[in-house]
Formats: sequence, structure tokens, C-alpha cells
Amino acid sequence: MTPRSKLPDVGTTVFAVVSRRAAETGAINLGQGFPDYPIDARLAELVHQAMRAGHNQYAPMPGLPALLEQIAAKLQRVYGVQADPVREITVTLGATEAIYSAIQALAGAGDEVIVFDPAYDSYDPGVRLAGARCVHVPLLPPAFRPDWERVSAALSPRTRLVITNSPHNPACSCLSAADLDTLAELLRGRECTVLADEVYEHMVFDGAHHASVLAHPELRSRSVAVYSFGKTLHATGLRVGYAVAPAALTDELRKVHQFNTFTITTFVQQAIADYLREHPACGADLPAFFQVKRDRLASLLEPGGWRVLRSAGSYFQLVDYSALSARPDVELANQLIEEAGVASIPLSVFYRDPPPMQLLRLCFAKRDETLVEGARRLTAWAARQRTMA
Ligand code: GLN
Repeated sequence: MTPRSKLPDVGTTVFAVVSRRAAETGAINLGQGFPDYPIDARLAELVHQAMRAGHNQYAPMPGLPALLEQIAAKLQRVYGVQADPVREITVTLGATEAIYSAIQALAGAGDEVIVFDPAYDSYDPGVRLAGARCVHVPLLPPAFRPDWERVSAALSPRTRLVITNSPHNPACSCLSAADLDTLAELLRGRECTVLADEVYEHMVFDGAHHASVLAHPELRSRSVAVYSFGKTLHATGLRVGYAVAPAALTDELRKVHQFNTFTITTFVQQAIADYLREHPACGADLPAFFQVKRDRLASLLEPGGWRVLRSAGSYFQLVDYSALSARPDVELANQLIEEAGVASIPLSVFYRDPPPMQLLRLCFAKRDETLVEGARRLTAWAARQRTMA
């Protein structure tokens, strides 16, 4: 029997597909976002220690108190925000679970959810599984900034949720404090929550600061903000994230979380708590660490004819290939795996109605050797295109 699909148009995520093809072909993988350098050995030691010390049974459903307290201390230090570790913070299975559980908790049949395209690929299916409908507002190249008039026009009495993403994956743009003011103004008087995907909070460049909904008093009271230790600790396999929201929203989120994942791996939570206690400034070095990598990749690619759209945030970089090929981005990404031996992510797949553009997303959270070899291959491929033209 063929089951009736609830998501008939959804295939395997582009990230998994590209990583599989990169592994099969031996291509340098600048597609899916994950570091290829080792994690801090101390974190590995603490995971080992925590398991040996017996932190191996269910953690409390909202998260291990030791970790919740460390998260509260971080929010105070980074954003000057007070969050009650008992009532306002929930540890989740990566940011993906936090996003999914929040959507299920807050949107239902007949509701509308505003997302900004290019939208991270888990948002729309999550909204549809909740029985709600996504309203897509495009961010347009090259700046990928929200057009607040379009957002205003997209709001309706049925809008229950607006999903923001800053620093934005895959567009690499950031919302400013003024953007958050405008959003707050648009939502005033509406029964609408903001789900703020802020997993790249520490990867903001050129001296800018991340504008968090948590630091915006008006948005703070109507937002669920989502974060990821996988990003901050360079270990995407940890699968530990968290959601911060006022108690009433947190109560709703936890009603779903408890039946979705129930609790998150106890010894990993304990180890992260221990690590944060030992490294209270964890994350503060990330802008400098990643900006060097961003600039390195850009300086290697630009002479080869790849036009780099300077990334304002995240660990991704968009490159415009229109001087090198007229092909659509999905085809070009495939062609580059085969011909250049480099995997990248096409941008158009994150749009409901893609605007005309020829952009690929590259991940620069990689060892220098990887960036150098990836850029060398892309430069050689570009040179071949020019000789053929
Ligand atoms: N967040 C990662 C990226 O954007 C992908 C995670 C995943 O594969 N689901 O590359």
C-alpha cells in the first residue's frame, strides 16, 4: 500500500543530498554547514567524564538545571537579558527541534505563518504539519533585506507567527535594531508570536553586533528565540539547542517538546554545562575566528571570476557566478560537484518563487587547507569556462 503522504512535494533535504553526493564523488564539501576541524579536546573530555560520573538517566524534561543556569548567565552576559532558567529556557534536540516544537505549539489549522524567503528548509514543512499555512515574503538579492511594507501587507488577522532568521541562513544578511523596531511596531496589538532563529548569533562581522529579539523589550515579551550549541561549540553532531521565551509561551512549547523528544542526552547536557562554567566567555571569539575564514575564502575566489557577496553573518558566503555560467543554480551546483569537485548549495531551492539570480552558498567553517583547495578547484573550473567561451 502506498501511504498517503502529508508532504508529497518534500524530498530529502538539499543539505543531506549534497553531502551524500560530495562523499560519493570525493568532492570538497563546502555545501552543508559543519566544521571539518576538531572540537576543543576539553569538551570531549567533559563528555567522557560526565558519562563516567553517571549522568546517564533521563534529564528533567525542560533541561538539566546546571545547563539552564549556564544559559541564563550567558543571556545576561551577552544580551543583558534576565531569563528565568526554570520557567523561560528549554533545552532541545538542536535548534531544529526547538523550531519544530514551537511551530506545533503555536500554529494550527486556519493560521498563517510569515516566513522570509530564502527560508531555511525546515520551516515550511513544520508549518504545514501543524495544519497552518506559510505566507512567503521574499528577501531580494543582493542585499536580502526585508521589505517591511510587504511584511505589513502579508499580515492578516490569521497571522499567528512570524519566523525571523538573523544572521540569515542562507542569505547571510542580518536584521538591524531598526528592523526589530519596525517589526515590533507592525505586530503591536496583534495576537502574533515571533519565532526568532538566531543560531548564528555569534557569527556577525565587520564590528557589527547581533540584534537579538531578546534584547528588544517589546519583542522579548512575544518571542521564542532559538539557539544552538552545535554552532557555538563547532560540533553540529551534539544536537543540543535551546529556546528562550516568556513563561506562558515556554509552557506551550514544553507541551510539545515533552512528547516530541522528552529530554535531551543527559551526559551531553552536563558536559556543556561544565564547559560553559569553565569558559564563561564562550562564543566571544567567534566573530574574529570566522571573519578571517570569510575573508580568506573571498580573497581566494575573487581573482578567479567568482563575485563574492560579502557575508554580514552566519558561516556561509554567497557567490555570484553569472560571469561564468548562464545555468540555473541547481544545475550549476551539480555540475560543480562533477567537474570542479566542489559541493555547494543552490539558493533558489529556499524560495517559493525564486527571483532571477545566480547564487551559490559556500560554507567557510572549514580548515584553511580545505578553503584553499576548494577555491583552487573553483578557480581552475572558472578558468576552463573562460577558455571554452
Ligand atoms: N544548518 C545546516 C546548513 O544550513 C544544515 C543542517 C541539516 O543538514 N539539516 O547547512
